[in-house]
Amino acid sequence: MKKIVVLGSTGSIGTQTLDVVRNNADMEIVALAAGSNIALLEKQIREFKPRMVCVWDEKKAKELKIAVADCQVTVTSGMEGLLSLSVMEEADVVVTAIVGMIGIQPTIAAIKAGKDIALANKETLVTAGHIIMPLAKEYNVKILPVDSEHSAIFQALNGENYERISRILLTASGGPFRGFSKEQLANVTLEDALKHPNWSMGQKITIDSASMVNKGLEVMEAKWLFGVDFDQIEVVIQPKSVIHSMVEYVDGGVIAQLGTPDMKLPIQYALTYPDRRPLPGDRLDFKTLSQISFETPDYETFRGLALAYEVGRMGGSMPTVFNAANERAVAKFLARKIDFLTIYELIEESVQAHHKIENPTVEEILAIEQETYDRIEAKLGDC
Ligand code: NDP
Repeated sequence: MKKIVVLGSTGSIGTQTLDVVRNNADMEIVALAAGSNIALLEKQIREFKPRMVCVWDEKKAKELKIAVADCQVTVTSGMEGLLSLSVMEEADVVVTAIVGMIGIQPTIAAIKAGKDIALANKETLVTAGHIIMPLAKEYNVKILPVDSEHSAIFQALNGENYERISRILLTASGGPFRGFSKEQLANVTLEDALKHPNWSMGQKITIDSASMVNKGLEVMEAKWLFGVDFDQIEVVIQPKSVIHSMVEYVDGGVIAQLGTPDMKLPIQYALTYPDRRPLPGDRLDFKTLSQISFETPDYETFRGLALAYEVGRMGGSMPTVFNAANERAVAKFLARKIDFLTIYELIEESVQAHHKIENPTVEEILAIEQETYDRIEAKLGDC
């Protein structure tokens, strides 16, 4: 029986993880965590019977405790709760499906407790990859990618020597604004940005996909997961999301992973690796798939992607600033307080204002995150 903790069980990745568990009789949920959606969490508790749950919001945790008083479940809250779920004795794997840098500490705690990590929460690797990857090695735990592109790369690398990688070809759909000019981007609305052409995802990552900041975060994630240099990672636009990414080897051979856009495949693969299991759903139909086309990203218009390469190469605390500024800017955009292009401006200004720390500790990363948030709040005032 594979015993699973899901951090972020009420979100897009979290609910799809539970779909995978429903479909695999040898998987068991031992703990679930959510931010504040206790109505859905209660349903999940009644169906999956976890031993422990965490609700970030303390007031909501108290409400949930009363609602599930008839269930055999311990209700915790806040960071303390997340940490206690991450180190549960009976757990084998922790699925990190929460959004943002809040995932760093639970991921570190889980690694130290010897749990494998099914990693969706890319922000953790972007900001603390220099801590997470060596720690995983030290504690001999696996970091199994859930992000579809990184899962594709991981699958294309199966049985291969990572030292024989020539390039990683990270594919991108280009999002809803592919082909837009800067002038067009200046006028897009929140509703436009939330319409991803191929994937149905949480709001934050959907906006990140529209700005291509998500691809920038993925470039940094790939660097840490696969131990390659930034020069070896090339973003390729493939609008239909049929190819989920590719690896080119030193002999020129390219191995790609293809499929329909369905996050359940990478989630399930992370939970059953190295095994593959049947998965219901659509299949690629090569008779109707007339063409797969490729484009080069427009780094000038989608300058968040170019900036991601820049801060990635600078390293140290710079990716933390990039990520934190983006998190706060996207929250402001979602709240209709700023327009789309201001997301890039806020990231750029935050990066320029920061003095790099070479190897930031977790405490420093969290302090820099807060400083970046405060800077943006001070700049935007009541916005
Ligand atoms: P969602 O916004 O859909 O879900 C986020 C989940 O995290 C919810 O369950 C939310 O709870 C929970 N949560 C938020 N804050 C806290 C907190 N402080 N403590 C505990 N739980 C919290 O996000 P996604 O599922 O889209 O994304 C999750 C992560 O996976 C992100 O890092 C994203 O970049 C990554 N990812 C997502 C993909 C996708 O297809 N969606 C693809 C690849 C990567 P509540 O519902 O109560 O707010």
